[in-house]
This record gives sequence, C-alpha cells and structure tokens, in this order.
Amino acid sequence: MKEPETQVCRDCGETKPYEAFVKRSKGGRLTRCKECQNAYARQRRAERKANALEALRLERKSKMERLTAEAVPRLQAERRTYLEGVEAHYQRHETYRVFPAEFLHGVPMEASGPSYE
Ligand SMILES: [Zn+2]
Repeated sequence: MKEPETQVCRDCGETKPYEAFVKRSKGGRLTRCKECQNAYARQRRAERKANALEALRLERKSKMERLTAEAVPRLQAERRTYLEGVEAHYQRHETYRVFPAEFLHGVPMEASGPSYE
C-alpha cells in the first residue's frame, strides 16, 4: 500500500506531512501528529499517575480504618482490665476508691489520674 504524502491530525486538525505522524509497529501511522501524540501521552501519564495515587490513598485509608477498628476494642478491653485491677487493689487494701462507671468507658487516662483525697 502506498503511503499518503500528508495526513490530517485528528486533534489539531492540521494537514501535515506523513512523516510528522508516529509510525505504528504494525504498519501505517498514528492519526495524531507527533506533537499532539506527545501531549496526549503526557496527559494520559498524568491521569494514570493521579489515579494510582488516589488508589494508594484509599488503600492506606481503608487499612488505617481496619487497623483502628481492630485496635479500639482491644485497647478498651486492656484499659478496662487495668482499671479493674486498680479497683481490686484498692478494695484489697480496704481503701475507699470507686471509679465512676464512665472511667471504664473511654475517658482518657490523663483525665482520670489517681486522686488521693
Ligand atoms: Zn496535531
């Protein structure tokens, strides 16, 4: 098949010499001129990179959420065990010290430090 001398670029619409279009490995040439093909490839690379970064961000986010979901009940249980131990200690030593119920359910440790009144 004889090659044409010129071709119209599908993007910029300009009529350019056939050599201004990238050769395809299976014969013939692309329908975008080299300039437009480069811009197109750059654009596609940027999109793929943005998509990959977004996918990575979502993956990390869901991983963090999963780890948090696993850790919170465990940490709450550890805290309950610890506070029950403290409670038992005070009871063994016949010291009057009773934690209000909310101390066992999520009040930060710093906010519930010991008070020796
Ligand atoms: Zn073009």
